[in-house]
Amino acid sequence: MRPGHGDWEKSPPAPLLPCTPGLWQPDLDALGSDGVRVTMESALTARDRVGVQDFVLLENFTSEAAFIENLRRRFRENLIYTYIGPVLVSVNPYRDLQIYSRQHMERYRGVSFYEVPPHLFAVADTVYRALRTERRDQAVMISGESGAGKTEATKRLLQFYAETCPAPERGGAVRDRLLQSNPVLEAFGNAKTLRNDNSSRFGKYMDVQFDFKGAPVGGHILSYLLEKSRVVHQNHGERNFHIFYQLLEGGEEETLRRLGLERNPQSYLYLVKGQCAKVSSINDKSDWKVVRKALTVIDFTEDEVEDLLSIVASVLHLGNIHFAADEESNAQVTTENQLKYLTRLLSVEGPTLREALTHRKIIAKGEELLSPLNLEQAAYARDALAKAVYSRTFTWLVGKINRSLASKDAESPSWRSTTVLGLLDIYGFEVFQHNSFEQFCINYCNEKLQQLFIELTLKSEQEEYEAEGIAWEPVQYFNNKIICDLVEEKFKGIISILDEECLRPGEATDLTFLEKLEDTVKHHPHFLTHKLADQRTRKSLGRGEFRLLHYAGEVTYSVTGFLDKNNDLLFRNLKETMCSSKNPIMSQCFDRSELSDKKRPETVATQFKMSLLQLVEILQSKEPAYVRCIKPNDAKQPGRFDEVLIRHQVKYLGLMENLRVRRAGFAYRRKYEAFLQRYKSLCPETWPTWAGRPQDGVAVLVRHLGYKPEEYKMGRTKIFIRFPKTLFATEDALEL
Ligand code: ATP
Ligand code: MG
Repeated sequence: MRPGHGDWEKSPPAPLLPCTPGLWQPDLDALGSDGVRVTMESALTARDRVGVQDFVLLENFTSEAAFIENLRRRFRENLIYTYIGPVLVSVNPYRDLQIYSRQHMERYRGVSFYEVPPHLFAVADTVYRALRTERRDQAVMISGESGAGKTEATKRLLQFYAETCPAPERGGAVRDRLLQSNPVLEAFGNAKTLRNDNSSRFGKYMDVQFDFKGAPVGGHILSYLLEKSRVVHQNHGERNFHIFYQLLEGGEEETLRRLGLERNPQSYLYLVKGQCAKVSSINDKSDWKVVRKALTVIDFTEDEVEDLLSIVASVLHLGNIHFAADEESNAQVTTENQLKYLTRLLSVEGPTLREALTHRKIIAKGEELLSPLNLEQAAYARDALAKAVYSRTFTWLVGKINRSLASKDAESPSWRSTTVLGLLDIYGFEVFQHNSFEQFCINYCNEKLQQLFIELTLKSEQEEYEAEGIAWEPVQYFNNKIICDLVEEKFKGIISILDEECLRPGEATDLTFLEKLEDTVKHHPHFLTHKLADQRTRKSLGRGEFRLLHYAGEVTYSVTGFLDKNNDLLFRNLKETMCSSKNPIMSQCFDRSELSDKKRPETVATQFKMSLLQLVEILQSKEPAYVRCIKPNDAKQPGRFDEVLIRHQVKYLGLMENLRVRRAGFAYRRKYEAFLQRYKSLCPETWPTWAGRPQDGVAVLVRHLGYKPEEYKMGRTKIFIRFPKTLFATEDALEL
């Protein structure tokens, strides 16, 4: 973890700005100033109006109300960024504030973190400088709920690096590839939901590799748990993944003809369930152009584009496959035209596909048996195929992008001297009216990240105190390891029990899973079911539900669908059919080795658990920085500050806990040089210059100011001030 403020201050102190920079200075942009001519109002008035720009300076730092009031004041002034020490809290403004221009990038380059108003670019620059000067890998973790602005922040960070970093000597195209991978991934992985018109339906971790001169030379993406159920079903007011609409709206006539597609999304069952093909904030036609161009930038050949679009179209055709029951109630395909296109686009044999869609192959005692499917089973098999085709294509796409981003110098010795900057844009804590397997996985992921966050924050505080020779004052905090264990522990954890039930096909059901859970973890303080609850809490818990007491609050999960989603089965003959595909992308997605593999594939939850463990390892090996995003209202509107909604997020993001840990010892710390420079005018002995060591100058200065011994401590390189009021009094003295 970044050791406190120290490293943010590597650069020489920025020129002094009026109005107490680094504390409650009004945002230069909000005032429309050129950065220097700031209205001279009394510091106190400014502080009242725009709040403090670092929550550690809140007098009443344990009060959630004070926290939210500070956020509100700043939001009203269009100040969307506030710090908790080195952590950046960001509130989505839902309007273009014009604060990400090249000019803004320049303003934040090389300046001292606390001498300029809080900004994402201040984090971007600090992280980059630490990477360059210390040659340590960095990771920016961006979290928040759907619509809070994580993806926008990730894009702004990437843009910052693409525009401000030096160009590599060779392979300059990597910058374009890094930027252009985004529209492609968003087309395939994002969708309009009720919460966000451009919601990422997968988690993303992206590494950007820099050479020893600080130029971006490569990248790598890891993706997590694509929400593939969206391919076949969308809730009212939501859409399928963007790519389908983009292709139909923007695709050339000839392309659509080849793919056998009509322009109207209403013609496709997989696109009509949400009843909102058109979204006012989205222009599918122009987005299509962007995606089409981006595909070329990330090294797609024309043939590959054609193969990819064939797959996208085949999913739409699959959705329109209908079945009718014959006399024996067995399903028969009735939509011949769709089947014909499917056969062609997926490059498989027509009869094989027809059979696979209506039969299930079972191998018993070494013999193959074909068992006909009824209507319901056939529809299930069709949807399972659509989900598998789409999600595997998505994984392939990530692999393809990675090959394009891979540093071309990977073999050369300079490769070894690269440093890595990671960007994590991952789903925040989710609580809906109805919570299922997906929310369970997502919230488990948030538990893991919260654990890491607390661990690293505490560690960094401790390290800084040690480095400065100040006695560490232990901080009480809630360690959520107990909840992580409840979910992931071997044999006794929820995932283990779920996997066990998945091994008993035909016998186990979602409800037997729940019973087993009740038996195994009944005494756990963070777990509850209807049966285990007392009279009072029982009312709010259904019979098919369990409740977890997460670090961020209670969530009730319905077990319906847990087994099915965790198993994620695709009938064997559908797999075989896909393995025979001559579409080059499909044949990479469905490998024959899968068929002969006797071992059961890992379940979805176990795969997710393993990928999270790997993610935590990656993040642990890096120096972390945090951006915590908050969504101000559910209406996606500018200027609206919904207090109830925000209070929830402050809780889910663990911000009060974060502030408490940060404030446990000292509210404020500053390098001696910076402190002296700023306040030397307040003492005749230090003004206009102090000839001795800055530390001694500070000692003289604070004695002159009348600081009491319990109010501050002198470390090796910094002064630590315990209460904000001490500092505010000094600041106010400057104004007199
Ligand atoms: P999800 O978890 O659903 O993917 P998210 O946190 O990634 O959500 P974004 O897609 O980044 O959310 O943001 C949602 C929308 O909010 C954006 O499309 C944009 O309109 C607006 N928005 C977010 N951040 C900003 C910002 N800094 N300035 C202006 N508008 C923003
Ligand atoms: Mg997103």
